[in-house]
Amino acid sequence: MPTINAAVWNGSGQPLKLERLRLVDPGSHEVLVRLSASGVCHSDYHVIAGEWTRPVPVVLGHEGAGVVEAIGVGVASLEVGDHVVLSWTPYCGACPACLRGRPVLCEVASETGNLMRGGKPRLWRGGTPVHSGAGVGAFAERTVVPESAAIRIRKDVPLDVAAIVGCAVMTGVGAVINTAAVEPGASVLVIGCGGVGLSAILGARLVSAGQIIAVDIVDEKLALARRLGATDTIDTRSVDLVGEVRRLTGGRGVRYAFEAIGRADTIEQAFEAVAPGGVAVVVGQVADGVRISIDPYVMSDREKTLTGSNYGSARPALDFPRLLNWYADGRLDLDPLIARRICLADINDAFEEIKTGRATRTVIVHPS
Ligand SMILES: [Zn+2]
Ligand SMILES: [Zn+2]
Repeated sequence: MPTINAAVWNGSGQPLKLERLRLVDPGSHEVLVRLSASGVCHSDYHVIAGEWTRPVPVVLGHEGAGVVEAIGVGVASLEVGDHVVLSWTPYCGACPACLRGRPVLCEVASETGNLMRGGKPRLWRGGTPVHSGAGVGAFAERTVVPESAAIRIRKDVPLDVAAIVGCAVMTGVGAVINTAAVEPGASVLVIGCGGVGLSAILGARLVSAGQIIAVDIVDEKLALARRLGATDTIDTRSVDLVGEVRRLTGGRGVRYAFEAIGRADTIEQAFEAVAPGGVAVVVGQVADGVRISIDPYVMSDREKTLTGSNYGSARPALDFPRLLNWYADGRLDLDPLIARRICLADINDAFEEIKTGRATRTVIVHPS
């Protein structure tokens, strides 16, 4: 059982603390991954800010990439030395959802929760079990995950870029290309230009969407949105979101709207901003207890769709490699999404940055 450095969250109001923990050896159909890079996601902040209830102590972090260091019995798809992106949706491959090609909705793997399959912990502090956030626990030097949660990727892409494919990029690009299947020429609205929203803009450009309207309240994020493909930007500090979308679209509204913040008011605005027959997609993760209010008459009369997207409707084993192929081909410009690279010891700074609302993506780089 190796001993590792990990950033542990011990509960409300406390910063993350670097601790030495014991990591179990990989069991049947599990692999041990040495992390090279871990992204800091807004969902981790939801936990720390008390907006999502999670058991403690926990090693958060669910966006990571690294190298397979050991494999358990029965592992067939991976070898020691493989580069992998971690996925927070392990899947069984045999339940009705998996058989329909919807592994993010897997009925079996979702029971894994924050511990290992069967409720067995993978991290220990002395005699106390420590949870692994989203079943990944990426704020650590190493982790043990199910085989289906470690997706082999090509070895010629940087692992810090690969890490953000494991959550932000998959979620944003996937919402556009998988969930909504945006067609060439369609108009797209993206509300919120963090890592997920900017990825949705990249996805819209990838599929040759027409008008791409980006919404935020931070100048730098709006500038980056333009650089990545937005044709128009809306700064909602100075104008009304829905009114401005109508002005920019000749009064029609957009064909697709992606809400990438996770707030009730912006989800309602996304629904309002779509044209008749349009689709509003909830991509942002909302705090526990949030409720929205929409007019169902408009829904039927104008045939508007309001839908959700989890993890960009990912099929990780198919999508992670192809996203990185597009990156390598220059079709998906992921480099500008990483705003800062820090070491694990500075992880609390990343959360301070998220709190300000200015952050795009901070990636923790682990020493090799
Ligand atoms: Zn995330
Ligand atoms: Zn399944």
